Amino acid sequence: FTSSKELHSPSGIPVLKLNGFVGFDSLPYQLVHKCQKQGFQFNLLVCGETGMGKTTLVESLFNMKLEFEPCNNELKTVELRTKTCEMVEGGVSVKLRIVETAGFGDQLDKEKSSSAKIIVDYINEQFESYLKEELKVCRHLARYDDTRIHACLYFISPTGHGLKALDVVTIRELAKRVNVIPVIAKSDTTCKDELVRFKKKILSELKANNIEIYQFPIDDETVRKENEALNSLMPFAVVGSTDFVERDGKLVRARRYPWGIVEVENVDHCDFVKLREALLRINVDSLRTRTHKHLYEAYRRERLREMKMKDGDCGPKMMEAFKQKEKEFRDEMKQKDDDFQRQFIDRVNAKEEELKRREEVLLIREKEQREKFEEEFSRLESSLNSIREEKAKLEAKNTLHSKKNKQRL
Ligand code: GDP
Repeated sequence: FTSSKELHSPSGIPVLKLNGFVGFDSLPYQLVHKCQKQGFQFNLLVCGETGMGKTTLVESLFNMKLEFEPCNNELKTVELRTKTCEMVEGGVSVKLRIVETAGFGDQLDKEKSSSAKIIVDYINEQFESYLKEELKVCRHLARYDDTRIHACLYFISPTGHGLKALDVVTIRELAKRVNVIPVIAKSDTTCKDELVRFKKKILSELKANNIEIYQFPIDDETVRKENEALNSLMPFAVVGSTDFVERDGKLVRARRYPWGIVEVENVDHCDFVKLREALLRINVDSLRTRTHKHLYEAYRRERLREMKMKDGDCGPKMMEAFKQKEKEFRDEMKQKDDDFQRQFIDRVNAKEEELKRREEVLLIREKEQREKFEEEFSRLESSLNSIREEKAKLEAKNTLHSKKNKQRL
C-alpha cells in the first residue's frame, strides 16, 4: 500500500489507496452466501374477525393450502393458532410461520381490550423468549427458532363505516409491538369510489387516535419511489380466493360472480399484488430489521429497566439482577422440591394406611377361616368318636356272641 495524505475517512482515519488486489470486495458476496445458507425466518400475524378472509388471503399470498382448524364462533376467548412451513425460491429458503387470531371479535359481551391483550401478550412472549436466549451465557442465536412477529396484517371489515371500537383498541396496542399493515378485507364487496372514501376515513380515524401504522421505509434510494407509492395505497384493499378461473388460456386466481369475475392478481381489481410486493418482495428485510432494532429493542429496554438496570451501571446492576433472578429461581425450585417431598410423603402415608387396612381385613378373614376350620374339625372329631364307640360296641357284641356259640358246641 501507499498511504495518501490527502484522503481521510469521516472519522479522521487516513484512507489508503490500494495499488493491488486485496480481496475484501467479496465481503458482500460472502454475506449473501451465508444468508442463503442459513435461510430466513418470517413470522406473519393475521388479525381480524372470523370469516373476514384471513386464511384465504394468506393462501393466496403464498400459493398454498393452510388447513387451519376451522374456528367456530363459540370460542370464549381469542386463541392464537400457528402454522409453520418452509419454502424455497431461487435458492433462498424461508421458514414461514403464520399466526392466526381465532375467535377474535366473536363474543358480543367480550371486553374489547382483553382480546387485544391476549394478542399483545403473545407478541411479548416471543420477545421474552428471545431476550432469555440473548441473556444466556451460552446462547445459540444463529440456531434459535426466532418466533418474534415481523408483520401483522390487520383485517378491517369492508362496511364503509370506518373503524370499529375493537379495531381502534387493538390496532393501538398492536402498533406498539409489531409492524401493523391494515388491509380492507373482501374489498370486492365495495365499489371503487366507496373504497377511496373508506381508505381516507380509516387513515383519518387512525390519525385522530394517534395510532401509527407501519410505513414502508423511504430512506433507501433504490426503493423510495416504490415504497412511497405503496404507502399511499394503505390500507390495502384486498381480495382473496382459493378458486381458479380460466382467462385467455391461463388459470387465474379469482372470485366468480353472476356478472363476471374479480381477479385477485389484477391491479385494476384490487391491491393484492401491491400488498404482496410490499410485504414479500420489497420489504421483508425492512420488516425484520424494524422488528429487531426498534420494536424488540423497546421491549428489551423496558424489561431491563424493570430489572432496575440503567445505562452506565449495567455491569454490577446486571449481576445484581441476575443474582436476584437466580435467587428467585432457586427459591422456586426449593418450593417445588418441598412440595414434591410433601406430596411424596403424603402419598407414602396414604399407601401405608391402605396397606394396613388391607392387612387388618386379611387378619379378620384368616381368623374367621380358622374358627370355621376348628369348628368343622371338632364336629368331625366328635362324629369319628361316636363311630369308634359304635364300632367298639359292635365288636364287644360280636365277641360275646362267639363265646356263647363255643360254649353251646
Ligand atoms: P377467516 O375466518 O378470516 O380465515 O376467513 P376465511 O378465509 O375462512 O373466509 C371466510 C369466507 O369468506 C369464505 O367463504 C371465503 O370464500 C370468503 N372470502 C374470503 N376472502 C374473500 C374475499 O376477498 N371476498 C369475498 N367476497 N369473500 C371472501
